[in-house]
Amino acid sequence: MKTVTNVFDLRSTLGAWREKGQRIAFVPTMGALHAGHLALVDHARKSAGKVVVSIFVNPTQFGPGEDFERYPRDLEADAEKLRDAGVDLLFAPPVDVIYPPGFATTVHVAGVSEGMEGARRPGHFDGVATVVARLLCLVLPDVAVFGQKDAQQCAVVMRLVADLGLPVEVRVAPTVREADGLALSSRNAYLTAAERTAAPALFRALLVAQLVHELGEKKPEKVLKAFRLALETEPLISLDSADLVDAATMRPVEKIDRSVLLAAAVKLGRTRLIDNVVFGG
Ligand code: AMP
Repeated sequence: MKTVTNVFDLRSTLGAWREKGQRIAFVPTMGALHAGHLALVDHARKSAGKVVVSIFVNPTQFGPGEDFERYPRDLEADAEKLRDAGVDLLFAPPVDVIYPPGFATTVHVAGVSEGMEGARRPGHFDGVATVVARLLCLVLPDVAVFGQKDAQQCAVVMRLVADLGLPVEVRVAPTVREADGLALSSRNAYLTAAERTAAPALFRALLVAQLVHELGEKKPEKVLKAFRLALETEPLISLDSADLVDAATMRPVEKIDRSVLLAAAVKLGRTRLIDNVVFGG
């Protein structure tokens, strides 16, 4: 595996592969890699001859008071995991390679980015859309792989790629979980032992809500109530937000008569975790 940190080295490596007719699959990440990221790499490996992974903790998607400074960073350990996973190229740029002096563009994806996490974390999806657009333009992959765990992010990226006509196929891979159901996340590293024990209650509560729908409940507020009640059984968890929306448009639904996304964010101490399930339709 080759590691590059600047645009010239990135482009010359990619150019040589393209000249040989290689297809390129790309997995953007913020590092602190776990099996969820590696599942995306696996998906990428099956989609193209060459796999590129980026590691970039993107400052523009963190709000004031969020965890940009303390976000876990371990480039050496990450590089080893990627090498073992058969990645061909790691792109690990410093901030001024992604945002050089004079950088003045912000990508705003209206609609899908504005509700839910977008409303609660102002500027977050502008940061995501801007960095993803920039990375896709730098790498120009045939395929880019994202995780369902960040469902609204996937919707934003798909809208962005469609609207800008970027010649890349966006794939969404399922959420990878611990044996007890907790979605893998780089932020799980922040949890104390007691919080870690409590954390799977989030996914359990999402499954309770899904079951309530599958037993016949079509009213979003009833399904959301079932979710909240199930979550309340775990005192270490406090609910930050829960949204039940159309799985494609991310808009609230009045009745569960199509594929919907139930997405939630919770707090365990200072740590904010997100997860979601898709059902209906
Ligand atoms: P991040 O490093 O958190 O920005 O995540 C990079 C990519 O990995 C995003 O597309 C995430 O949705 C995806 N990802 C994060 N956690 C998981 C998981 N548990 N399962 C599958 N994909 C994930």
